[in-house]
Amino acid sequence: MTPASDLALPVAPAAESAIEKTALECYVAPAKPSLVGLSRAALAEALRGVGVADNQIKMRVQQLWHWLYVRGTQDFGAMTSVSKHLRLLLAQHFTLARPAVVAEQVSADGTRKWLLQLPGEVEGERPHLVECVYIPDSERATLCVSSQVGCTLNCSFCHTGTQRLVRNLTSGEIVGQVMVARDRLGDWPDGVRPTDGLIPSGDRAVTNIVMMGMGEPLYNFEAVRDALGVVTDGDGIGISRRRVTLSTSGVVPLIVRAGEEIGVMLAISLHAVRDELRDELVPLNRKYPIRTLLEACRNYPGASNARRITFEYVMLKGVNDSIEDAKALVRLLKGIPAKINLIPFNPWPGTRYECSDWEQIEKFSEVVFNAGYASPVRTPRGRDILAACGQLKSETEKLSARERMALRAMAMTE
Ligand code: SAH
Ligand code: SF4
Repeated sequence: MTPASDLALPVAPAAESAIEKTALECYVAPAKPSLVGLSRAALAEALRGVGVADNQIKMRVQQLWHWLYVRGTQDFGAMTSVSKHLRLLLAQHFTLARPAVVAEQVSADGTRKWLLQLPGEVEGERPHLVECVYIPDSERATLCVSSQVGCTLNCSFCHTGTQRLVRNLTSGEIVGQVMVARDRLGDWPDGVRPTDGLIPSGDRAVTNIVMMGMGEPLYNFEAVRDALGVVTDGDGIGISRRRVTLSTSGVVPLIVRAGEEIGVMLAISLHAVRDELRDELVPLNRKYPIRTLLEACRNYPGASNARRITFEYVMLKGVNDSIEDAKALVRLLKGIPAKINLIPFNPWPGTRYECSDWEQIEKFSEVVFNAGYASPVRTPRGRDILAACGQLKSETEKLSARERMALRAMAMTE
């Protein structure tokens, strides 16, 4: 498969500064937009737009919501509780399209990757592709979802950050990733579960969502907020907010707002305990240094011992992995209800970083553990289709952006 990053032509976005690129806003919706992923308010607006009477809107939205998100219906004709006239009207103006699956890979351990082509087009460009990764175990399964094509930020250890082209996904495209996963997993009332791969034993094939794919979710705030509103809506997909994690590199002014308006679990890509180093690893730190970031975390609505903030820490050999760093990390997080997630670095061709040695990761983890934090270092999943950090060099050199994304997501899976 060709990596998504190779298929997107880089156009226009002049880097505003070394810290942030500007997201392109040149998305052209398909002539017939999809209703998938619209918030209730946007769905109401769409219905109003095709002439549905005001006094009917609430009821029609509720009906559509059920067909879309409880039944997973892909055909207006099957919506038997909706009048025939409205079904025809809807089919004239809208679709129920999800992103198209360009490729699917299933690992021996059940991990699945889908390469997805986004609906609509962007003038003068080839179609945009993102990847969505499914990481199941016997009791739960996490879906790793993207928020942007590329990323506006330039973290020095992240391959997504090297892509110049950035486009925000629409709310529909974000929800669409969840819909595609559920379609492929037969995760609807009349769905047929695939016979290969692993799916957890309960009645749900997707139990958790992590916004840890491509992109900085807080720089696509409204679409991510609306999409997660759809995904967590109790009358629809109904994944509890406690089972949804949003990972941010530290967009400080939007963190508290995310807590108030999105209300999901928060993960912070910390990666360094000193500003000097974090300025280099996560250049956004120059704008929002560690102190302000941790202050925002202290003020994150709903953070408590039962709802801890996850601090992600990518293990970079000789860069941020000393025992002193580990001690400074636990000092820094004092007073914040926190979990620490140590992520083995996934090398990519051309990177100047290496993954820390396993013994060093263990020593680091011990300091963190002794300070009272669970600090699991996850066993990489999907080795056969993804390869793992520190494995055969030839293998890691073949890692594509989406494979790295999958490995990062796996580190979040508990
Ligand atoms: N932009 C958001 C979410 C997507 S990145 C963020 O930065 O938090 C998800 C996680 O993967 C982040 O913690 C990020 O720092 C980490 N990551 C990026 N590149 C990585 C790599 N090559 N190896 C390991 N983790 C990586
Ligand atoms: Fe963007 Fe996150 Fe990668 Fe940084 S780590 S470049 S914020 S995707």
